[in-house]
Amino acid sequence: MREYDVMVIGAGVVGCAVARELSRYRLRIGVLEKELDVACGNSSRNTGMLHAGFTYKPGTLKAECAVEGNQEFDQVAKELNVPFKRTGKLVVGFTDHDRENILKFKAIGEQNGVKGMRMVTKEEMAAIDPHAGGEFAMYVPSSGILDPMQYTIALAENAAMNGAQFLFGQKVVGMEREEETYRIRTEKETFSTRWVINCAGMYAPEISEMMGYPNYPTKGFKGEYFILDKKAGKYLGIPVYPAPNDNGGFMTHATPTVDGNVLVGPDSYVTEDREDYAVTKEHLDGLIADGRKMFDHMEPQYFIRNFAGIRWKRYDPETGAILDFLLEADDGHPRTVNLVGIESPGITCALPLARRAVKKLVEKEQPEANEAFQPNRPGIRRFSEMTEEEKKAAIQEDRDYGEIVCRCETVTRAEIRQAIHNPLGVHTVTGIKNRTRATMGRCQGGYCETRITHMIEEELGVAPEDVRYSKEGGYMFMGKVREEQ
Ligand SMILES: Cc1cc2nc3c(=O)[nH]c(=O)nc-3n(C[C@H](O)[C@H](O)[C@H](O)COP(=O)(O)OP(=O)(O)OC[C@H]3O[C@@H](n4cnc5c(N)ncnc54)[C@H](O)[C@@H]3O)c2cc1C
Repeated sequence: MREYDVMVIGAGVVGCAVARELSRYRLRIGVLEKELDVACGNSSRNTGMLHAGFTYKPGTLKAECAVEGNQEFDQVAKELNVPFKRTGKLVVGFTDHDRENILKFKAIGEQNGVKGMRMVTKEEMAAIDPHAGGEFAMYVPSSGILDPMQYTIALAENAAMNGAQFLFGQKVVGMEREEETYRIRTEKETFSTRWVINCAGMYAPEISEMMGYPNYPTKGFKGEYFILDKKAGKYLGIPVYPAPNDNGGFMTHATPTVDGNVLVGPDSYVTEDREDYAVTKEHLDGLIADGRKMFDHMEPQYFIRNFAGIRWKRYDPETGAILDFLLEADDGHPRTVNLVGIESPGITCALPLARRAVKKLVEKEQPEANEAFQPNRPGIRRFSEMTEEEKKAAIQEDRDYGEIVCRCETVTRAEIRQAIHNPLGVHTVTGIKNRTRATMGRCQGGYCETRITHMIEEELGVAPEDVRYSKEGGYMFMGKVREEQ
């Protein structure tokens, strides 16, 4: 049986941030993930906003962690070598009620410590972004955009560089406590660990119960999006959000991505199904209508694809009120940290939450510092981001930089190769896509997907029938149609 000091359950942004913070200490760290890669849950199904923290009730963990996570992110992005732009945000209004709500949340933001928010007129809005809708707005300079997938991968890779082990395809199904250790059962094997940290996202309530805490009441709010081509992206430089509703919730917004696309969405409706990521015509129509109010270049020819995410929230069954993030470490359940209800803004809050979770362990155990901890993670060198001089030098150094595999996103063979040999040992086609952007362009993989599959076969020496698209059982090929003569 494999033995660990700490086992983290779930490799979303929170679990990966926890693993990275744990790797500052000399501990045997494992991360159990049911899927074949990190960020297969909601950490890859969101807007990628670095929120400023003006809609959360003062004194809550959400407010505290959002403001802290926002303020530190320039440094974090530099250390982890992930794309990030502090774009600011326009929160736009049309009516008197919108203005009242914006002002209410501006005051809340100031209480939370959000700096620099100011009301702007329609003329000033035009100077900030002429393509934003609305009659007036609040400008929030500290908001920013990041790639949540790249960020989660970077946290995980940095944790792995510093000694954490990622164990994929390991769905946790049970747990027993024995004196000083926990036995964690997955569908494949049993692990022994002294500490357990629950970061299972939508499935955190079940893991919470396995750990001996309550199965907290939670429910899902699904949101659908669509993605616009980079041709639309050149018109939008700043996220444009509608005025928050009375509870601080936002409906459909238009947000540029760090790669130059535009995300339109999400809307919000209740769901009980944690695997329901389907997108629907009915919601697409609503997104188009609402999105047009935010951004004036919503032409149908720019639509690339849709996706959905589910904000899984903890709520009070008596009043129905949505509750704060829960982070607890109860002495009745020794050597456990339980995180439940980490919905939006969980990307912004991941590292502040991780520090608070790890502090619970450090206070009890005083582990030795990992003197070799390295906060910087190199990542893949992207051809499309190089200057002409850098491109020439890269091709001279490695001829594979001279062969374009994904034409839409200009991804070279050298980048695909680096992605195949990623530090986490992820070998799926979507794993390569998420690390390089190959297949994410206009043709959606029509040209490069088979080339990537072939490179996985070559680089890893596996049979075509063994290459998986993204999930266990999701094979690219079933077998040969005919035998070679
Ligand atoms: C529509 C939408 C928009 C959002 N927009 C933003 C935004 O702009 N900015 C922001 O800061 N936040 C945003 N969020 C919130 C953010 O996406 C989440 O808070 C965050 O991703 C939660 O991360 P997590 O690691 O807790 O959960 P997840 O990413 O869901 O990770 C949990 C992991 O646990 C694994 N797991 C579950 N059960 C088991 C098991 N039994 N065994 C092993 N592994 C298991 C899952 O496979 C998954 O990989 C948004 C969320 C949504 C849905």
